[in-house]
Amino acid sequence: MIDYQAVRQHVIDYTRKLADDGFLKGTGGNISIRVPGADALAITPSNQDYYAMQTDDICVYTLYGDKIAGDLKPSIEMGFHSAVYQVRPDVGCVMHTHQDFASAIALINKPIPALFDEQVRFLGRSVEVVPYAPSGTGMLVKQVKKTVQNHHNAYILKNHGALCLGPTPERAYHNVLLLEKAALSYLLALYTEEKIDKIPLPIREIAFAKLRSEQKKIEQQLAQVKG
Ligand code: 13P
Ligand code: ZN
Repeated sequence: MIDYQAVRQHVIDYTRKLADDGFLKGTGGNISIRVPGADALAITPSNQDYYAMQTDDICVYTLYGDKIAGDLKPSIEMGFHSAVYQVRPDVGCVMHTHQDFASAIALINKPIPALFDEQVRFLGRSVEVVPYAPSGTGMLVKQVKKTVQNHHNAYILKNHGALCLGPTPERAYHNVLLLEKAALSYLLALYTEEKIDKIPLPIREIAFAKLRSEQKKIEQQLAQVKG
């Protein structure tokens, strides 16, 4: 028997945490968690006050768009959340935020290079910019689905906001924090107009290999469970 209520409560907890930190603006941003042992996700409803939301308001859908539970309309971005879970078996949580500094980077079309080793260890070799497509459209789903196949855990959505992934909600949240630090540091460094130093290439590769090996372990465990 799948415990949907526990996953839904987890969505509420992390939504509030992100809202408390100011990473969601008004009703902008959405969070989902993969339902363990099912091709399904629990996701925030569209356009609802994050602090008024109750467990039963969290929408549970299959990754193919069929409703399992919840009477409210799911987030307009459910398409790209589902697409991430389809192509990234290592991902257990997707956080789409409108966080300030990553959103500023979203206006200048510059991927964040490998600036810090912990950034590469958890987010990937760089933070790529997903090409612009309007919110809630199939075009955005297509762009996200294509870009996340580079196995990174943080992306900038052009002229929109950010997208962070993680194997667990704890790690996705950690990645939101790391992204915001990298984005702010990069913006300040750009502002100086001085040369920006990246971490040495061999260190970047060692850090990224750690992330990849962790992802592969999760993929293998899932393959074993599925038989
Ligand atoms: P929802 O309220 O439908 O989740 O939309 C918010 C958002 O951030 C759209 O990109
Ligand atoms: Zn958004």
